[in-house]
Amino acid sequence: MIEQSSYEVEPWALRESTLRLDLLAQSESVFALSNGNLGLRGNLDEGEPSGLPGTYLAGFHEKRPLPYAEAGYGYPEDGQSVINVTDGKCLRLLADDELLDVRYGRLHSHQRVLDLRAGVLKREVDWESPTGQRVRISSTRLVSFTQRAIAAIRYEVEVQRPTRIVVESDLIANESAGDAPLSADPRAAGALRAPLVAKDSFAEGTRAVLCHATRQSGLLMAAAMEHEIEAPPNLSCRSDAIEDLARLTLAADLNPGENFRIVKLLSYSWSSRRGLTSVRAQAHAALAEAAHTGWDGLLAAQRSYLDDFWERADVEIDGDPHLQLAVRFALFGVLQAAARAEGRAIAAKGLTGTGYDGHAFWDTESFVLPVLSYTAPVAVRDALRWRHATLPAARRRAEQLCVRGAVFPWRTIAGEECSAYWPAGTAAFHINADIADAVIRYVGATGDEQFEREEGLELLVETARVFQSLGHHDEQDGFHIDGVTGPDEYSALADDNVYTNLMAQQNLLAAADVAERAPKQAERLGVAAEEIAAWRRAADGMVIPYDERLEIHPQDADFIRHAKWDFEATGDRYPLLLHYPYFELYRKQVVKQADLVLALHKRSDAFTPEQKARDFAYYEAITVRDSSLSACTQAVIGAETGHLDLAYDYFLEAALMDLEDLEHNTRDGLHIASLAGAWIAAVGGFGGMRDHGGGTLAFSPRLPRQLTRLSFGISYRGRLLRAEITPDQARYSLQRGAALEITHHGRAITLTETEPVSCSIPELAAGETPTQPPGRSPGRRAPG
Ligand code: BGC
Repeated sequence: MIEQSSYEVEPWALRESTLRLDLLAQSESVFALSNGNLGLRGNLDEGEPSGLPGTYLAGFHEKRPLPYAEAGYGYPEDGQSVINVTDGKCLRLLADDELLDVRYGRLHSHQRVLDLRAGVLKREVDWESPTGQRVRISSTRLVSFTQRAIAAIRYEVEVQRPTRIVVESDLIANESAGDAPLSADPRAAGALRAPLVAKDSFAEGTRAVLCHATRQSGLLMAAAMEHEIEAPPNLSCRSDAIEDLARLTLAADLNPGENFRIVKLLSYSWSSRRGLTSVRAQAHAALAEAAHTGWDGLLAAQRSYLDDFWERADVEIDGDPHLQLAVRFALFGVLQAAARAEGRAIAAKGLTGTGYDGHAFWDTESFVLPVLSYTAPVAVRDALRWRHATLPAARRRAEQLCVRGAVFPWRTIAGEECSAYWPAGTAAFHINADIADAVIRYVGATGDEQFEREEGLELLVETARVFQSLGHHDEQDGFHIDGVTGPDEYSALADDNVYTNLMAQQNLLAAADVAERAPKQAERLGVAAEEIAAWRRAADGMVIPYDERLEIHPQDADFIRHAKWDFEATGDRYPLLLHYPYFELYRKQVVKQADLVLALHKRSDAFTPEQKARDFAYYEAITVRDSSLSACTQAVIGAETGHLDLAYDYFLEAALMDLEDLEHNTRDGLHIASLAGAWIAAVGGFGGMRDHGGGTLAFSPRLPRQLTRLSFGISYRGRLLRAEITPDQARYSLQRGAALEITHHGRAITLTETEPVSCSIPELAAGETPTQPPGRSPGRRAPG
C-alpha cells in the first residue's frame, strides 16, 4: 500500500510541519537543492543532527581502486566516487551560550517548505533552549539556476527577551559522514573518509575561501563565502581560516523586535586542469557577481527562470492533488539534476546524495533526456555534449573489448567504465543505443542540425560501429547480437535481446541516414559508402525473436525456455538481488524491470497493438519491479493497452517513489529516472505521446477514471504546444510557433496559433487486466 505522504499537499509546495529525526536522511534528499552543477542536501542549517551531510559538484570525484577477489581481462582498475565537498550550509546559533540543537531543549515548531515556483527551501524554527531562551530562526536557501556556481542562504534570528547571540558561519571540508548507519546494499555508496587535501585557506572581513585537492583524481576545488549582515550596532565580527575550516563568528546582544539577518553567499569552482590561482579566482569572481546581484536579485532571477520553465513544462492534473504535487516535484527534481550540468554527467541520483557513488547510467539518456527534450532541450544538448566529450575514453574501452567504435561505460562520472560487475555492466551494450536514441530524439524535437552534424553524427557513427562489430549475420542474412545484457538485470549475457536489437537497429539506420545527409562530416569520421551499406544490411536483417506458440516476443532467444521463477516460495524476499545469487536469477523467467515492455514503448512502431497487449500481459506476470526504472514504462504500456487503472497505479508509484520512500533508500538520494518517469507516465502514458521522428508527434490520450483533467506543455521545434485532456476529449493548442501537424489516435490534424483543435477520444475495449507476481502489484494508495 502506498501511504499518504508525510508531506502536506499543496499545489506548488512541499511542506513538512514536523521534524522527524528518524526520517532525517530521507528528508535531506527530498529537500535537496541543486542546479545540475552544485547540489546541497537539505541538511539542517546548524549541521547537526544530520543523516548524511552533502554538498556535491557535478563531475567532482575521487578515484578509488576496485579490488577483485578474482580479476579478469578488461575489468576496470579504478572506480570513481562522488565526494562530499566543502560544506558552506552551516550556520550555527548560540543563544546565551546554548547551542541550538533540535535534539535538546524544546522544539515548539519546525517547518520546512520547498517552494517549487520560487525555487527555494524555507525553514522556520521556534526553539527554546534547555535554560529557557526562546529563539525563532527563519532561513531561506537557494541554489541558483542563473548563476551556476552560487548558493545563498538568508538567515534571520528573533528573540523574545534580551539574548546574547552568537552565529558561526562555516566552510568546512572533510565533514564526518553523519548519523546514517552504513548500508550493506550495493546500491549505496562506498564512503570515502576525508577525501580532500588542504591547499590554501584565507579569511578577511566577512569573506573566506578554502581550496582543496583530491588525492588520486588530481582535481582542485575552491569554496568561498561572503556575508551581508544586518545586526544591532553592538555586533562584533571575526573571521578565521585554517586548513579544513573557515569561520565567520558574529556576536551581538539582541533585543526583541531587533533585526539580526545574515545573507550568506557561497560559490564553488573546480578544475582538473587549471591551477590553484585560477580556480580560487573563479570562486571569488562568482561570489563578486552574486554579491553584485544581491539576495533580492538572486531570488527574482530564480523566480523568473522557473516561471519560464513552468510556463513551458507544467503538467496539470485535476482529480488527485497528491499526484499533482508529486508530478511537479518530479519535474522540479529532473530540472534540478540537469539544468546547469553543462558538460558534466547527470547522475542517477542527481546531486542529492551519494547513492550509486554518484554515477551516471543509461538512466540519463533513456529516462531523463526524453523528458528534457520536450521541456528544457538546452540541457539535453549539454548532456549529450558531455557524452561526446567522453568519446576518447569510450574508444579506448572499445579497443580493450575488441569492438569497433566507442563503447560507453555502464556507470561513470568522468567517462571511464566503473562497473566492476561485467554481466550487468560491460555486457549492457544497449547503453550505446540508448545514447543514440537520445541524440535522435533531441535532434527530432529541436531541429538542431548543427548539433546533428557535429556531435550527433559522431555519437551515432561510433555507436553504430559497436553494434555492427558485436553482431554477426547468419546464413539467411539474419543479424544477431549475442551475449548481451538487456535492461532486465535478472537475465544476463543473452542472445538477441529484443530491446537491444530493436534499439541497435534504430541506431544503425540513424547513423546511415545522418551520414548520408552530412557526407563531408561523415567522410571525416572515415565513414565510406560500404560501411553505410553494412549498417543498413545489419538493420534490415536484425533478428527479433517471436514465439509462435505463445504469440509473444521472448525477451531474448532463450528466455521462454527457462523455468519460471517460484514466486510462491519467494515470500517477501525482495529485492531479489539482495536475497538470491545471480546465477539463480539468470536461469529463470523473472524480470527485474521493464525490458521487452520498454521495447514496446521506445520502439512502439515495431509492434502491432495485439502484440503489445499479449506481450504486456505475459511480462506483467513475471516482472518484480526491483528497480525504480520500471513502473513508468509499465504505466505507459498499461495505458496504451487500455488497462487504465493499472497504469494509474504505476504512475503513482513512479511519482511517489521518493516522497513515500517506496524503495526505502531515498536517504541515498532521489531516484531521478523515476522522477522523470512521472512525466513519462503522464505524457507518454495518459497523453499517449510518441515521437518516432519525421516531424510529426503522435498523441493517443486516454484518462484513467481517477483523473478529470490532464494538461501538459511540449516544446517542439521552436513551438510551444499544450494538450489538455478530459475524459471525453483532447484539446490541442499551439501557444507559440508555426503551424504543426500532429496525430490524434492516428488521425492527422494541423495546429495553428489561431485555433485550438478539439478531438473526441475513442473507446478502447481492453482485455482482462494483467496480473503481477504475488505481492508485486503496484500499491494502491491507502484510503483517506
Ligand atoms: C537498474 C539499472 C539502473 C541503475 C541505476 C539498477 O537497479 O537495474 O537499470 O541503471 O539501477 O538507477
